[in-house]
Amino acid sequence: MSFETLTATATPETLLLRKNAPIAPYTTFGIGGPADFLAEVYTEGALQQVVREAMASGTRWLLIGGGSNLLVGDNGFRGLVIVNKIEHLVVTGNKIVAGAGADLGEVVEAARERSLSGMEFAIDIPGTVGGAVRGNAGAFGRSVADVLTRVRLLEGPDLVDRAPSELGFAYRHSRLKENSNIVVEAEFALQPGDRAEMDRIMGQHAAQRARRQEKGLHTAGCFFKNPVLPDGSKIAAGQLLEAAGAKEIRDGGAGVHAFHANYIVNRGGASAYEVLRVADEMKRRVQQANGITLEEEVMVVLDPEHAAG
Ligand SMILES: Cc1cc2nc3c(=O)[nH]c(=O)nc-3n(C[C@H](O)[C@H](O)[C@H](O)COP(=O)(O)OP(=O)(O)OC[C@H]3O[C@@H](n4cnc5c(N)ncnc54)[C@H](O)[C@@H]3O)c2cc1C
Repeated sequence: MSFETLTATATPETLLLRKNAPIAPYTTFGIGGPADFLAEVYTEGALQQVVREAMASGTRWLLIGGGSNLLVGDNGFRGLVIVNKIEHLVVTGNKIVAGAGADLGEVVEAARERSLSGMEFAIDIPGTVGGAVRGNAGAFGRSVADVLTRVRLLEGPDLVDRAPSELGFAYRHSRLKENSNIVVEAEFALQPGDRAEMDRIMGQHAAQRARRQEKGLHTAGCFFKNPVLPDGSKIAAGQLLEAAGAKEIRDGGAGVHAFHANYIVNRGGASAYEVLRVADEMKRRVQQANGITLEEEVMVVLDPEHAAG
């Protein structure tokens, strides 16, 4: 990849480019070795330029939003890490258009301020709009796809607007998990709501999260998806893990959260391998106790060339 070509055209307002930069500060786990190149992109144009350059030079890339659903290996990433900082947010009538790098919490707050109802479920879900769209983030029985009306994508080098119906949304899933398309912008349609009622519901949701989600906790939230049973119903992975005694599992600096058996926490200085060993033991216990194989919700990025240790 031509670092020099990109830096020559970059301005601090559009693109920040570094070589051999640590990934850990860009993830909520606080784990991850260096990226060969790391680009913080602030505009659609800069993102397009960086992706074109990566494609032309055959450089692989990893996109990071808020890094709240991501475990990157200790050896980092051989290629380009793109950190999405496209953060615009515009409210028109009952619609909110947000850059994919905007905090999902900013969208929730913008909706609350204007008494627009529909995003209450998302209060305190960490991460960006782009990450939330890709993984169809949700809580309390609702998810992002319920309020989404348009998604702007970078498909290869091209910007394309897609309707949600084209993106195959399901529980914590979209077609974006099966390709390398990048969410650039999303549009949400909300309904006029009663502010007092909205505040009441959001207060309840926030209180439910407060204990397991204290500030500064180095975790990626639920490590495993809630498994679907043969009759189609879902069961909380946290419940299965708790019953299987997962809360006692520790490995070096990594361990299961005392208040949530599906959260792995970096208690200080944990390596990715320690986290993965904790995850393996969690899986093993549930498999042994219930015959259910848990599936990772967190995106794990281990550079194959360096995946030893
Ligand atoms: C304490 C805590 C609580 C959580 N609670 C919930 C919850 O209740 N519900 C829930 O659903 N999740 C929850 N999560 C997980 C996380 O918040 C969501 O998955 C979130 O939507 C991830 O967004 P992100 O920007 O941080 O994505 P990242 O972690 O940066 O990225 C995750 C994946 O999405 C990809 N990605 C990121 N941005 C884009 C983009 N613009 N275009 C294409 N791909 C992209 C990345 O390449 C990566 O593969 C929680 C996490 C934490 C730490």
